[in-house]
Amino acid sequence: MREFKVTWWEPTDRERQWLRRYTSTDEHKCASTGSFCNAMVEFGEADILYTKDGYIDGGREDRKPPDSDPRWPKACDACGRPFGEDDPFQLFGRRVYVCAATGERMTLEKAPVGSCWDAWWISERRKEGPIGCAYMVGPDHRSLMVKLPGNHDWLIDSRASNCTKPDDKDHLCWVRHGRPEDGTLHVDKNGNTCAAGAGSIAVPGFHGFLHHGILKEC
Ligand SMILES: [Zn+2]
Ligand SMILES: [Zn+2]
Repeated sequence: MREFKVTWWEPTDRERQWLRRYTSTDEHKCASTGSFCNAMVEFGEADILYTKDGYIDGGREDRKPPDSDPRWPKACDACGRPFGEDDPFQLFGRRVYVCAATGERMTLEKAPVGSCWDAWWISERRKEGPIGCAYMVGPDHRSLMVKLPGNHDWLIDSRASNCTKPDDKDHLCWVRHGRPEDGTLHVDKNGNTCAAGAGSIAVPGFHGFLHHGILKEC
């Protein structure tokens, strides 16, 4: 039985960046993945740019090196097919988060199992709005995400696939108590909920409970 301590992660104003090439047409299918061809090399770290409304500005056009820069990947990471001149040159970015307890910094894709963060991009627009699984907003008006084994992200405040009250917007399929910041986060069925499950979470390769700040396999 695996156990993982829940740790709290906060966003920074920095992002990790990659130089990315990919194919964006339907004309080629990657011989290896069957999807599009793709390649990324690490480029470094930079301040996140925001729009005037305070949202992250995904447009990094002004900040990327010229197409002639030798650091751009030359061929697909999966199949080795060389990119053409018309394939996009993209400066790709992911926000850096910091672990409140240890000061470790990384992107959420790399964060260890048990990492917890607020998916503020969901709850931000609903600060004054209702609470419930249909809105993906929990009792503290946040949308908490927990990293599970297999790199699955669990949005605790979302609707369970086996929810028994699909027409009810205001209940929570998983009921949260405590706070991830102080190790007391606890998820069960005590509250306005439905009959789905017993408060556990199941994804391919993992089934467990989040009790008293610990993610426990069962
Ligand atoms: Zn490919
Ligand atoms: Zn439900």
